[in-house]
Amino acid sequence: MGIDRRDFLKVATAGAGLAVAGTPTEAESTERPRANPRRAPFVRSGQIPDVVVVGAGNFGAWTALNLQRGGMQVTLLDQYGPGNSKSASGGETRGVRSSYGGVAVGLQWAEWAIRSMQKWKDWDDQYADSLLPRLYYESGDIMMREEMSPSMEQSMVNWDLLGHPYEVLTPEEVTYRWPMIQTPEMGAAVFEPSAGVVRARRAIESVARVFQQEGGEIRIVKATHGDEDGRMLENVHLSNGEKLEAGMFVYAAGAWFAHFLPELMGNRFRANAVGHVYYFETPPGDESYRWPNCPSYGVPGCTGWPALPDDNRGFRIRTGGARGDNPDESVRWVPEDRHERPREILSKFFPALAGGIINETRACHYSSTASRNFIIDHHPDFDNVWLAGGGQAESFKQGPVLGEYIAGRIFGTETNEELNASFALGDATYDEGEEDFDFDD
Ligand SMILES: Cc1cc2nc3c(=O)[nH]c(=O)nc-3n(C[C@H](O)[C@H](O)[C@H](O)COP(=O)(O)OP(=O)(O)OC[C@H]3O[C@@H](n4cnc5c(N)ncnc54)[C@H](O)[C@@H]3O)c2cc1C
Repeated sequence: MGIDRRDFLKVATAGAGLAVAGTPTEAESTERPRANPRRAPFVRSGQIPDVVVVGAGNFGAWTALNLQRGGMQVTLLDQYGPGNSKSASGGETRGVRSSYGGVAVGLQWAEWAIRSMQKWKDWDDQYADSLLPRLYYESGDIMMREEMSPSMEQSMVNWDLLGHPYEVLTPEEVTYRWPMIQTPEMGAAVFEPSAGVVRARRAIESVARVFQQEGGEIRIVKATHGDEDGRMLENVHLSNGEKLEAGMFVYAAGAWFAHFLPELMGNRFRANAVGHVYYFETPPGDESYRWPNCPSYGVPGCTGWPALPDDNRGFRIRTGGARGDNPDESVRWVPEDRHERPREILSKFFPALAGGIINETRACHYSSTASRNFIIDHHPDFDNVWLAGGGQAESFKQGPVLGEYIAGRIFGTETNEELNASFALGDATYDEGEEDFDFDD
């Protein structure tokens, strides 16, 4: 993916006809930023970066790493730090499955999810050691419904098209294979063997660390859209009063997009649905509800997975949620009056866990778009600003592919016009009163 830095800045700002802050001199451009594993975290280099990425979540961190690998000098900004507890990517764990039959762009999301499964394994092969423990656990995913639903049918059509293995099981086969699972009123089950679970906040910490080791810079600071010169953005303003210049900017602000670019996002984007996640205790000394003995699962109104080794948070269940407009202020634990709902679901499907202690809860904002797809697009008003976000309740799993793709868009090497157009900011907007997120889905 390597591209000469001068060429990149020419391509990336083509048509603007303006000098670009941060464009390297002839001498600088021949000096590829060198990996410096011992660079202390959060130390400033004092150099004007080629690219500033705002937001070190799933979109921003993977993009920053891939831009840095492509030869750019990248500075990654986050107001709370990579993998922070307010970010959607700072959850303990995220599911990695490709059953997207219920989504209009499901075939494409599935293709990226499947490619990412291998990339998560490759990442572990390269980096998992005593300091960066393993991230990805292949658990398989069992999806169950009262009857074979159109979404399940379409998932299988997608898998057939992609040559991806799956199994159709009867409820009896499910309980035979995994005796800890009950299947009340369930008539149909589909199993995706290569699905899994990734330890999310550790993944972001790990991407951030590798990014730094390869010469990238991370700063804990809040950014706001800065000074403009025609169709060029000159800088972002930082919470410490500084103005940080760059040739190119990537905004990857997650749920904060609504506050970061309120006029542009308007009714195209919503982030007021807050998902609730619980980690239930597993019976002491009992391996049944731990990886690899139990698969990840999707049953009506809920998804979850077993407790993971290297992690031991507990048995995960995601169900229900609340509304909250401000990702800086919303509460990130789940109040006790909500705890009945996960217990009800567990009592049906995993009865041995239903009365157990809840070890931890988590709450985070979904970033929804009226287009129902991720946004990966130029800012319509600036030639040197990109937007990356709108992960819905997905996208974490696709992170390793997303980062390569977004960097490719910025370098101009991703030329599949149909695919690129599918991620356009577009004109679709939510209708007044339209729900952006169905918590029971
Ligand atoms: C409950 C729940 C369950 C989910 N389950 C799954 C799942 O199983 N599988 C899956 O693939 N996906 C899942 N998702 C979705 C996935 O987690 C998100 O789509 C993804 O993490 C979003 O990444 P992001 O980079 O857009 O946002 P974030 O991770 O929120 O990152 C945005 C970052 O930008 C920073 N930022 C914002 N504004 C500024 C500013 N002005 N200056 C500096 N920094 C700023 C923030 O501090 C934050 O760190 C789930 C989401 C939720 C809420």
